[in-house]
Amino acid sequence: MKIRTLLGSILIMSALAAAGQPKVIAHRGYWDCDGSAQNSLRSLAKADSIGCYASEFDVWMTPDGVVMVNHDPTINGVEIQNTPSQTVLLEKLSNGETIPTLDQYLEAATKMPGMRLVCELKTHDSRQRESAAIKKILETVRKYGLESRTDYITFSRDGFHEFIKKAPKGTAVYYLSGDFVPEQIKHHKGRGIDYSIKTMRKHPEWIKQCHDLGLEVNVWTVNKPEDMVWCIEQGVDYITTNDPEGLQKIISELPETKATEKKAKKQKKQ
Ligand code: MG
Repeated sequence: MKIRTLLGSILIMSALAAAGQPKVIAHRGYWDCDGSAQNSLRSLAKADSIGCYASEFDVWMTPDGVVMVNHDPTINGVEIQNTPSQTVLLEKLSNGETIPTLDQYLEAATKMPGMRLVCELKTHDSRQRESAAIKKILETVRKYGLESRTDYITFSRDGFHEFIKKAPKGTAVYYLSGDFVPEQIKHHKGRGIDYSIKTMRKHPEWIKQCHDLGLEVNVWTVNKPEDMVWCIEQGVDYITTNDPEGLQKIISELPETKATEKKAKKQKKQ
């Protein structure tokens, strides 16, 4: 009986610790490893293979309406939003893959049911282009049946509002620019803030404010171990990083902190 009680306590403690830990999001996929490249299909598969909670990627749309996965506005000097898709599709990533379309990316993701997707709309040249891109992105995500596991993030204030308005009810949309305080995010019906580590170090009080308002907190791009530890201690919900394996290791080795204990207790009550 005593052993069963002890085992029970251990299980409960493990569950509490798990509930209080931030979730790991691979920034532009897991690209800093053999054979990978930022925003490649390989980086998506690598993020899934190490058990990331989610994989983040960036999108641009060509003038003929093909959404491409790439961080920069250009690839090998070719400007994606001003070049026909057939020309853009001649370009290769640093690992030899052809630049992926959103279709290819999402099709691959359908085979990774355990991982969420964080789609970043890059800020296009005009509102019209951005709006057309949002329409196409939402249609494509729906086509692959990925609406329930795709979140949206953007630096574009207009894009943020439009995703909230047009994505299915309950879709998580986060704002990246750092110039909305938590009350404003709540007012505009965002899921939470997704701000840089620099911004969050300046405004650690926003973490509690978000949680008190029922919002979530994601922090990017957290690559230094000391910043990872700080985020964990502050009780953020998600950490976006170029080093997902390093972060997983730190999370697994850290003792429970006051913030995670408090958060876990709160989640248990709900
Ligand atoms: Mg991004």
